[in-house]
Amino acid sequence: MSAKYIFVTGGVVSSLGKGLAAASIGCLLETRGLRVNMQKFDPYLNVDPGTMSPFQHGEVFVTDDGAETDLDLGHYERYTHSKLTRENNWTTGRIYEQIITKERRGDYLGKTVQVIPHVTNEIKGAMKRAAVDVDVVIIEIGGTVGDIESLPFIEAIRQMRQELGRDNTVFVHLTLVPYIAAAGELKTKPTQHSVKELLSIGIQPDILLCRTDRFLSKDIKGKIALFCNVEEEAVITAKDVASIYEVPIGFHHEGVDRLVLKYLRIDAKEPDLSKWQDIVHRVYNPKDEVTIGIVGKYVEYEDSYKSLKEALVHGALAHNLKLNVQWIEAEGLETKDESYYEQLRHVDGILVPGGFGKRGIAGMLNGIRFAREQKVPYFGICLGMQTASIEFARDVCGLEDANSSEFDPATPHRVIYKLRELRGVEELGGTMRLGAWACKLEPGSLAARAYGQAEISERHRHRYEFNQEYREQMAASGLKFTGTTPDGTYIEIVELDPSEHPYFLGCQFHPEFKSKPLEPHPLFKAFVGAAYEYRKQRHQTKEHEEESIFLRPERVGN
Ligand code: GLN
Repeated sequence: MSAKYIFVTGGVVSSLGKGLAAASIGCLLETRGLRVNMQKFDPYLNVDPGTMSPFQHGEVFVTDDGAETDLDLGHYERYTHSKLTRENNWTTGRIYEQIITKERRGDYLGKTVQVIPHVTNEIKGAMKRAAVDVDVVIIEIGGTVGDIESLPFIEAIRQMRQELGRDNTVFVHLTLVPYIAAAGELKTKPTQHSVKELLSIGIQPDILLCRTDRFLSKDIKGKIALFCNVEEEAVITAKDVASIYEVPIGFHHEGVDRLVLKYLRIDAKEPDLSKWQDIVHRVYNPKDEVTIGIVGKYVEYEDSYKSLKEALVHGALAHNLKLNVQWIEAEGLETKDESYYEQLRHVDGILVPGGFGKRGIAGMLNGIRFAREQKVPYFGICLGMQTASIEFARDVCGLEDANSSEFDPATPHRVIYKLRELRGVEELGGTMRLGAWACKLEPGSLAARAYGQAEISERHRHRYEFNQEYREQMAASGLKFTGTTPDGTYIEIVELDPSEHPYFLGCQFHPEFKSKPLEPHPLFKAFVGAAYEYRKQRHQTKEHEEESIFLRPERVGN
């Protein structure tokens, strides 16, 4: 059987959760025993999101093969087992890059190169290459229908239906059904307009996922079905949920997977959702809570740390805990404003995530010093490992003004410097150490104990590295180098000894990209576990202190 396709488009407004919807459909099909692949097409002209600001684009998700991709691929990996590579995320920019290369090579043999058929053929080619060794390919089209930029992609999926037929393609359209308080009603008009827009480009959706804050009544479903020309059972309530891990279960209750299989004429077993139900049960029934402070510079825009936040949630769920995140603006820790330090004093663990550029670094260093001296569990990721090394060099080894040459090219102590393999490379696009690299762990270290294995593979995205000229001196002062590439070229993990600090670990890679709700990442599990131990101990000490105040003689009796 050759693979069949599900195309997911979105209408009315962005941010309705198209990526999550696509990932949840993938998840449901996998639990029914099907093999799925997932692919996203983004209409913008950047070749990839690698050079875009986190404020513009949110997180850049890195795959094993080193592609810098859209954050929806993170959802795909968290909900399914599809093996994602650079083939799974295409932008208009990359499609055109290919076409222009071919044109310059003379591949078009004198023809006029046009959107139809050349651009659409290139798009369809990418879609078909994703259909190898799987039963179903789920393809998400970025943006909302009606955007000029997304037209070639919509046209390409229209042609796919034309070529492959009704039984091999399903169109799923995500739309909004808002509740208007003044009228006390759910409104279907935006959905009708959005479907009309799709119809005008030749696509009749098969399934409508209606994002809403309440269940759609039979009447409303009937009305949408009538106006939009879909079966009534194909009008799905996609209700807001407290946890994103409920979405597959909600979709299943609404019959999404059954409908998709019906339209694609696939026979599959009933899904086994017990593992997802267990996750949702944990979300609603935590035994306690834990608060992690994230000291970063994009904190007002949470999408910049999407996978990180999810990985922390997974780590907390693994201990049956509710996660609270305290976002702490790094630049605030550079000021004399005590309220930022107050935030630090109330968290159970401190995390400095990845980032680029000089802004906020001094604040991060203050946050790390606080974690190290006050013995608060610390987890540094990429930039958070580099800044932890700088803080240690300055405050423990006395290397005044130690820094990364990224932030101070004239620093007397370049503890972090430009990757040796990148010297002389000035171009920004795709010029980093990217993707999966092996790392050897020192037996008995925090990392080795967390992973339970001697060699690991993790994903990277950085331009600077730890300068090994400082290794001996810093090791003599107590910084442990517990993870390196197998050939010893790069330092991957630094730690403090557990006799010095309850939990202090920095890694040059991004473990958050590989964490899944059903497979929490060992380092997040270990860090959240240490934070929870610290919390319990802190609360005990506090209780103890309160108790001893109460027991003071002057307070006893009248
Ligand atoms: N800016 C640092 C570097 O390029 C850290 C990168 C990151 O945190 N992803 O090495």
